[in-house]
Amino acid sequence: MAFYKSYGAAGEVTGSCHFLQIGKTKILIDCGMFQGDEEEFNKEPFDFNPKEIDYLIVTHAHLDHIGRIPLLVKEGFTGKIISTRATFSITQLMLKNSAGILETKKEPLYTTKDVDPALHLFGTFLEPNKSLELTKNIKISFKNAGHILGAVSVRIKFFDEGITKTVVFSGDIGQSKRIITSPVKYWKKANYVFIESTYGHSIHQNLNVSIKEFKKEILETIKKGGTVVIPSFALERTQEILFLLKQLSQKGKLQDIPVYLDSPLAINVTKTFKNYPKLFNNKVTKMIKANEDPFDFVELIQTYTKESSQKIESHKGAKIIIAGSGMCQGGRVSYHLIKYLQDKKNLVLFVGFQVHSTTGSQILNAKHEAHILGMKIPVQAKISSVSGFSAHADQHELLEWLNHIKDVNCVYLVHGDIPQLKVLKEKVKTKLQDKVHIVKMHEQIHL
Ligand SMILES: [Zn+2]
Repeated sequence: MAFYKSYGAAGEVTGSCHFLQIGKTKILIDCGMFQGDEEEFNKEPFDFNPKEIDYLIVTHAHLDHIGRIPLLVKEGFTGKIISTRATFSITQLMLKNSAGILETKKEPLYTTKDVDPALHLFGTFLEPNKSLELTKNIKISFKNAGHILGAVSVRIKFFDEGITKTVVFSGDIGQSKRIITSPVKYWKKANYVFIESTYGHSIHQNLNVSIKEFKKEILETIKKGGTVVIPSFALERTQEILFLLKQLSQKGKLQDIPVYLDSPLAINVTKTFKNYPKLFNNKVTKMIKANEDPFDFVELIQTYTKESSQKIESHKGAKIIIAGSGMCQGGRVSYHLIKYLQDKKNLVLFVGFQVHSTTGSQILNAKHEAHILGMKIPVQAKISSVSGFSAHADQHELLEWLNHIKDVNCVYLVHGDIPQLKVLKEKVKTKLQDKVHIVKMHEQIHL
């Protein structure tokens, strides 16, 4: 007997947590945090007994896939955590940072002291295109998901009711062209497929067009002596931005103006990325082989300490500041926004999706003023947004990913808001596969 049950990212994007029972073996795929409007769900106890889970498979190190692991361990999970080495390295940074932020809240979900016991359960490593036998009836394999460094999709092959069955969990799938990481790889066969649907309703702007736009906006601003503020996510997006700025630097287009990387987390993540040279795409790999650091260039200044961060404003001329958080919900970017939003020669350049009701979305849509750290700030600077850098596949690419998989009995849609799920369901139905189902929270599915 084998069945699946959803405990997160069903009819929503965050809180990824999928349960699979095969015979007596109980497996979780991801244990992520609910974010944004769904944050309150984090406080609810797990609807299963964490003590009974044998394995936790982690697809990648975004918080909405790993954020509740310390809680799971606190509640009694003692099984093995399986991931790629890169995912484990990044998870260490992300969970410690997350615990630091949680500690500033009234009733923190967990604290820094809960992180180490969780990290100790990692250590069963599996890399893409390799397999691992969990029991004599259950074998798992990973494939590169092309989403962020170390991200994978998972195939679980098991013997049940006299036959061999396979189930694939997509994790988060990336675009077929990425700025730095190697692109998505496809599974050939599976009986049951659980696929993310974040952008099931839309098509991204072309990546090359976005890169051109990004560079043009920056060059225009520094030419007139302005400051460019880039609110950026510490994981993957910042490294992509550094790589693109290095290209400008190599062409002599930055004119020696300073580029500040003003985020301790982003600085640490960038360092970690350099430990995994084999996980990048051809362009970056070529650079590494030529002994070039893909994320460093002469104009780059890393401001790790608060003191060095505060000195940025003493540089009066043109400059570029990359700081978190990506949606301007706190972090050092808030101080830069207060200072630089008020002058029309400056530019605030968004490079990631801004969720409705965040400060980032407020600035993006602001007519005259924005509310930052309790202050009303007049918006005089130019506000721009580059939309094609997404780490997620769009509708075409999700269908393309599915199209590669043969022998599918049913496609299950997860990790998407209801409108996106509905559009993708219709597309899958008309183009690929009759049997397609939107998974509901706590729904149990026999496999
Ligand atoms: Zn992700």
